[in-house]
Formats: sequence, C-alpha cells, structure tokens
Amino acid sequence: MAKLYFKFGAMGSSKTAQALMTKFNYEEKDQSVWLIKPATDTRDDFVGGDGKLHTVLRSRIGLFADAESVPADIDLYSEFISRGNGKKYKDVVICDECQFLTGKQVEQLKDLADKQDVPALCFGLRADFQTKLFPGSMRLFEIADSITEIKSICRCGRKATVNARFDDDGVIITEGSQICLGGNDRYEGMCYKCYRALIDEKERAEKEEK
Ligand SMILES: [Zn+2]
Repeated sequence: MAKLYFKFGAMGSSKTAQALMTKFNYEEKDQSVWLIKPATDTRDDFVGGDGKLHTVLRSRIGLFADAESVPADIDLYSEFISRGNGKKYKDVVICDECQFLTGKQVEQLKDLADKQDVPALCFGLRADFQTKLFPGSMRLFEIADSITEIKSICRCGRKATVNARFDDDGVIITEGSQICLGGNDRYEGMCYKCYRALIDEKERAEKEEK
C-alpha cells in the first residue's frame, strides 16, 4: 500500500538534496518520478518542452534537476489521472518545498497514495520565521502516513527546529508576510533557544533607543 510521506527539516537541512537523491534512487530502479514544486516563487520558472511550467531544483551541495512548477489551483489528483490517460502517469510523486502546497493539494496527494497506489514523498519546512506552521505542513502533519525529521544543527550545536529570518544587516526579523519573495532576506535554521535570545536582544536594543 502506497503512503504519503512528510520529511521535514529546518532551513539548511539538505531537504532538496534528499529529494533529488530519492528521485535518483527511484529512477535507478526504472521507476518514473513526477518531481514537483509549488509555484510560489515564479522567478525561475520557464515553459518546458511539454508546454508545462518548470523550474530547476538546486541543492546547496550541487545537485539539481528539472521540476514541474505547480500552481496552488492545480488539482494534483485530477491532473495525474488525466495525464495518465488510462495508464499510471508516473510511479511516484516527489514534492520539494511542500510547505507551500495548499491543504487541498496535500489531500490530493493522499488520494493518489490511497486510491492509485502511488507513493507521494513531500520534503519541506515545518514552520515559518515566526515559528508558525505553513498550511501545507499543517495538513501533512495531520494526514501523512509517515513523518520523519531531517535533522540539522543550530550554531550552538543543538538541533535546529525554527527558521530565523534576517535582514541585510543580520538583524532578526519578527514581522512580515509568511512568504518573502524577491527580498534579500536570508534564513538560518536555529534552535528555539538561540532564536528566542536573538529576539530578546533585538527588543532590548529597541527599548534602549527610545
Ligand atoms: Zn542554538
């Protein structure tokens, strides 16, 4: 029986590399992969030879692959069925940046696993820079058959669990939209204790200025 998998980690936990290695492992066994990524940031998107929107998944360790960029209004289940035209369109679905899927799309992947016996492997972040769950991650925690953590380390050596957002000057940002597109902000996976300490420090500095 196929399953819906959620493999989550903080920023810098090599999620994309793991998604691409998983793709490689399936393809080595002659299994075809539908590699997708939610189309939240369309700067790198292009129209591929199949007429669909594509993007390039790049991992920091140098692996990269062409992925299909899926808008929030695409029904992943119906799309998979209609493309298969009576046959199985692909053997497996792998989604990177799955935190940006809608709750409905997570349900559609669960249906693919349950009704079509197609495993769906989702790689992404647990929570945003304010430590709040992303919509896609929330639904995955609720209905995924298998949930595993991809571990990475904070600057202090503890396990990183939150994603801190910083401005150009390296000051932690605590307000703003959940998805920051086109900005120069940078992110760092940290433990909650270090994250909290940076926020306290910032608030102290702001008080002293007043
Ligand atoms: Zn820490």
